Amino acid sequence: MDTIQKAYKFRLYPNKEQQVLIAKTIGSCRYVYNYFLNQWNETYESTGKGLSYGKCSKALPGLKQGLDWLQEVDSTALQTALKHLDDGYKRFFKGLNDRPRFKNKRNPVQSYTSKYTNNNIRIQGKRVRLPKLGFVKIKLSKTLRGRIISATVRSTSSKRYYVALLVEEPKPQAFDRTGSHVGIDMGLKDLMVLSNGDTLPNIKSYQSLESKLAKAQRSLSRKEYGSANYHKAKIKVARIHERIADIRLDYLHKVTSALVKNHDFIAIEDLNVEAMLKDKYLAKSVGDVSLSKLVELLVYKAEWYDRKLVKVNRHFPSSQLCSACGYKNSKVKNLAVRKWTCPYCQTRHDRDLNASINILKEGERIHLRSTVGTTGVA
Ligand SMILES: [Zn+2]
Repeated sequence: MDTIQKAYKFRLYPNKEQQVLIAKTIGSCRYVYNYFLNQWNETYESTGKGLSYGKCSKALPGLKQGLDWLQEVDSTALQTALKHLDDGYKRFFKGLNDRPRFKNKRNPVQSYTSKYTNNNIRIQGKRVRLPKLGFVKIKLSKTLRGRIISATVRSTSSKRYYVALLVEEPKPQAFDRTGSHVGIDMGLKDLMVLSNGDTLPNIKSYQSLESKLAKAQRSLSRKEYGSANYHKAKIKVARIHERIADIRLDYLHKVTSALVKNHDFIAIEDLNVEAMLKDKYLAKSVGDVSLSKLVELLVYKAEWYDRKLVKVNRHFPSSQLCSACGYKNSKVKNLAVRKWTCPYCQTRHDRDLNASINILKEGERIHLRSTVGTTGVA
């Protein structure tokens, strides 16, 4: 049977003792990660090659022997830290990322991941059992149906705790065919413009929170650094940030679920989000709408519900081509051009709608080529 992996996030209420152990585990994972990153870097710099998860994992007991506090925490969490390091370097070798960086204490989200073995992670009543922590109070807002694979414990800057349980469960039933194909231009002004003319705006509903945030930030700036009131104000700011992030993520979930439900075939641009974030002009908008998250959600939902998702090469000139006649108008490269008329066929275009139609056409072309290839038609 086909299965999928799904993460379920719950609020966690650890007691004081458990909070201390969570902090220790996060610190230990960071220590192990940084220790082996240093070794990995030295090997890379002298030989041009990396280490491996297996090598680091074998060296871990030796490191633990000299450091008692590393033995207090869940050992599978330390192994996961090594796995993350290995993944980071693998992505670097593939040219997808910069080299992994050292982890530090000041990152707003601190987490570790325990692996499931021998029933060490399970839900029991209103509590979850986690390695070394024992039973921790949990706010169980959803029912799990499936096999737990891992548990990621997070503590946020607002001093809240969450656990994300990764579960393997049966693939959901595919949606009925709708016969609809859609191309999506993801962007700056609107979140998405669809080739059928629909526009999905960027979320506005957190704007009231934005003013609350500004107020909380002003209040924080007036507090004496390091004082008790300063810490209180800082937590308040962090809570508002987290609330905004939650609303944004909910919205992205809603939008991507609807897209996958309504269309059999979806074409998107294969955006280089990291490069966009480095571009000063694009960075703010891209950060705001979390485009990479949007793509991530679309990709896995399309997979779950048996929809075809095609990514169009990021160098495809979707904005510049006339979707009516194919004429390439390089003047449209300028992002300020919102509307234009094709000098060849005189069709009047809205920049983003035209782009989304081209993305759909290109996506269909790529898909057709790949299906022809697999059925062996010459
Ligand atoms: Zn034209």
